[in-house]
Amino acid sequence: MIKLGISIYYPYICDEQLKTLYIMSSRVRTYDKCNKANGYGKNLKMNDGTYALRRQVMDVIYEVKNLVNLPRIEVRINERPKKGNSIGLAYLNANIIYIPEHLFVKYPAYVFEVVLHEIVHAVTGFGHDDKCPLMRPSIGNKPMDKDKAIKLFQTYFK
Ligand SMILES: [Zn+2]
Repeated sequence: MIKLGISIYYPYICDEQLKTLYIMSSRVRTYDKCNKANGYGKNLKMNDGTYALRRQVMDVIYEVKNLVNLPRIEVRINERPKKGNSIGLAYLNANIIYIPEHLFVKYPAYVFEVVLHEIVHAVTGFGHDDKCPLMRPSIGNKPMDKDKAIKLFQTYFK
């Protein structure tokens, strides 16, 4: 499914609308090209700190991977985007998610739900749904209950 149209939310979860443009032109791109074109932060160099952040994301993936049928998902930790306040990015149907480091710093309690949100984009190709607390483009005033997030997550894999 390809959705176009730009909406600005604060703080918003991801640049899903931007990546659809890539999906339309080419599904295979280097990360550098993606980053340069959409203003998203560069991939961070892998060091102990970056590995620790990626570990947190992998832990979320491990926690749900037996609940639904997940392919292997690549995880990148990025610099904070130059513009906007995006706290996650995924390429629809491309099985790659990008999480900027400021998610861990500024919204640590939201890491779980944001990772699930990005996985839905990355694996199912689903865009945003304003009515769904998991797939709306902006995070709520308080973190979602983990069980609720998992329940909603599962509905996208049926
Ligand atoms: Zn999104």
